[in-house]
Amino acid sequence: MKGVMVKLTIEEKTYSCQPGETVLDALLREHVNISYACKKGTCHSCMVRSADTLPPEAAQAGLKNTLKKQNHFLACLCRPEQDMIIKLPDQSEFYTEGTVVVNEMLNRNTLLLVIAFEDAFEFSAGQFVNLQRADGLTRSYSIANTPQESNTLEFHIRRLTGGRFSEWLHDEITVGDTIAVSEPRGHCFYLPERSEQGLLLVGTGTGLAPLAGILTDALAQGHSGPIYLFHGSREFDDLYRIDELRQLARQHQNFHYIPCLSGKHVPEGFTHGRVNEVALASFTDLKDWRVFLCGHPEMVNQMKKMTFLKGASMKDIYADAFFVTPV
Ligand SMILES: Cc1cc2nc3c(=O)[nH]c(=O)nc-3n(C[C@H](O)[C@H](O)[C@H](O)COP(=O)(O)OP(=O)(O)OC[C@H]3O[C@@H](n4cnc5c(N)ncnc54)[C@H](O)[C@@H]3O)c2cc1C
Repeated sequence: MKGVMVKLTIEEKTYSCQPGETVLDALLREHVNISYACKKGTCHSCMVRSADTLPPEAAQAGLKNTLKKQNHFLACLCRPEQDMIIKLPDQSEFYTEGTVVVNEMLNRNTLLLVIAFEDAFEFSAGQFVNLQRADGLTRSYSIANTPQESNTLEFHIRRLTGGRFSEWLHDEITVGDTIAVSEPRGHCFYLPERSEQGLLLVGTGTGLAPLAGILTDALAQGHSGPIYLFHGSREFDDLYRIDELRQLARQHQNFHYIPCLSGKHVPEGFTHGRVNEVALASFTDLKDWRVFLCGHPEMVNQMKKMTFLKGASMKDIYADAFFVTPV
């Protein structure tokens, strides 16, 4: 294996990091209590700081310049080549406390959670945040509303059977409870430029959450080009917001909503097929289209390639793959 064995020092205790191992894996192996979720450099929940050496450049990918200058880095991306003294973050620096104000079901598996803040929470519709439980367990969830809607964030949370965080949110969190919320992250959001451009939005399951925010934002900002939203799941009972989206399509001539079902039972008014296949079959050419892909990682990765091959430019393809945390 490439690399060298190095020493990691945290609060005067020293741990070994094996050749080729990431700082995060080394610290987890040594049972250090460090917050993490995606292990892919997306969620930033394992961000720590080097107190002595410059972190490797690759471990700072996607961080703001101010954080880079302070030697912050992502433990999941860091394969150190020299000993490091590491400071774990003071969570209050990056997390704000919010209060749950709405907690109700959108369908049999999906929870609508609305969290309110005392002060304005700045974000772009479509971004995601990390939610953190008191014991440090952290997961990423996409924001489903727009910043215009006062000091609240809306989330759509799918219950994953046996999932530690989603089951906790579904079964235990109630109105009035507080929860720690990180700064907003991610680049999958609408920018009010080229308003005549076509927008293609494709999502599976709770991939609708960021797409709903992007759609509301685009319509509110007067986007004049065609907007197509393809939302898919296997069963009818796993789709949601169907009536509201149909109503929106009646109100806005340029907005088209295509709910797709890949299972056997397909009621009238729904399209049969996998959402990615239905969406791709609906266009011969995606040149000059802006594409937003959210939800199941396999769908997202496949559609990135396919929409590019159909003519969309890479810089116009925005995506959030909902990676689950590897166990
Ligand atoms: C950028 C981003 C945005 C996200 N936004 C949302 C969102 O808006 N809404 C949302 O609901 N989720 C979202 N997620 C996913 C979310 O972060 C969690 O991964 C998810 O809620 C599961 O966490 P958990 O703790 O309940 O499950 P965990 O306890 O972490 O369990 C995950 C484990 O379950 C197993 N598993 C994986 N897939 C399945 C499956 N389909 N069925 C059964 N078992 C499985 C795997 O072994 C996996 O390791 C997002 C993820 C990312 C990275």
